[in-house]
Amino acid sequence: MITIPITASRTYEVRIGSGLLEELGSQSREIVKAETAVVVSDSTVFPLYGEYALSSLKKAGFRCLSFVFPAGEESKNAATYLSLLGFLAEKRITRSDLLVALGGGVVGDLTGFAAATYLRGIPYIQVPTTLLSAVDSSVGGKTAIDLPEGKNLVGAFYQPSLVICDTDTLNTLPEDIFLDGCAEVIKYGILFDPTLFSALEESGPAFSREQVIAACVKWKRDVVAQDEFDTGLRKMLNLGHTVGHGVEAGSQFALSHGKSVAIGTAIVTRAAASKGICSKETETRILRCLEKFSLPVRTDFSPEQLAAYALSDKKRRGGTVDLILPRQIGDCIIVPTSVEDIQSLIEAGV
Ligand code: NAD
Ligand code: MG
Repeated sequence: MITIPITASRTYEVRIGSGLLEELGSQSREIVKAETAVVVSDSTVFPLYGEYALSSLKKAGFRCLSFVFPAGEESKNAATYLSLLGFLAEKRITRSDLLVALGGGVVGDLTGFAAATYLRGIPYIQVPTTLLSAVDSSVGGKTAIDLPEGKNLVGAFYQPSLVICDTDTLNTLPEDIFLDGCAEVIKYGILFDPTLFSALEESGPAFSREQVIAACVKWKRDVVAQDEFDTGLRKMLNLGHTVGHGVEAGSQFALSHGKSVAIGTAIVTRAAASKGICSKETETRILRCLEKFSLPVRTDFSPEQLAAYALSDKKRRGGTVDLILPRQIGDCIIVPTSVEDIQSLIEAGV
């Protein structure tokens, strides 16, 4: 097991290792005095790991309840959120009880937001079961639900009390969803970590899970420690995302987030190379690495279409959008780009 302490408005640990689900109860017990633990999960993950999680919690003396909703982003909405709050109220869950988010980013974001707001805040634990949630959404305290008008429009910054990542749970992930998470893993390599990037170039998707997840979580920890509330450095984590959101929205979300981010990363990389910001060699390494993970690096959308979507991004500030561009592996820069320049930059990268 690898343990990574996180320092933010709450101090907590991320524990990563094989077989950790068995210790969910005892490890939760170390952290909270709660009487009741409510396991929140989705209709795919609960049948796989729900009973396992509940029995470990029961062994540690928790009274256990579970709330399960249909798997998928469509469930990350106000209706599911309100029905979870209603469940908690009906079961008379108090501020000294505990929520356990067992699942991917959808479960984590929704449970985290319920925990942040029910009774003005009750403790919760993240148990990520997708690669994306292990390296990204379970750490850092961003919680949210979607509105019909857009993704993640309602939420809170609310840190968990503990993150337990059992790497064995990734064994049941469909390959496609695993590869989506790989796009975010590669992102950390390009942003911060030449050693991680080289290892990924070598291994492809067969990387050592515990080591690689830990490396990513450490980078996320460092970013969150400096910018918990997303006013500066945290935007570095948007590498590939601004243009990627264009591809994702343009496809009506038929193309997954990870693949969209891979295309976005490829576009900004080619643009950076064409402007002499990174070398041809860096460009080739990034594109090859994405391809080694069977991730796409091209799109049929036109630069005009991508620019239009990029500009409707909620991270736009006034007349500029902050694009993250690679200089070298492990070294990226934030480039505030005017509305006029964004299309020409994308043109250079498609
Ligand atoms: P997800 O939670 O929808 O999981 C993807 C699919 O995999 C689901 O169908 C799920 O049921 C299934 N699944 C999960 N674990 C499994 C397992 N071990 N075995 C088999 N199937 C399993 O999606 P995700 O990719 O984990 O997360 C995406 C969400 O995360 C989005 O809503 C996004 O907005 C959010 N997100 C949040 C943050 C943050 O900082 N809070 C960061 C990035 C993404
Ligand atoms: Mg992402």
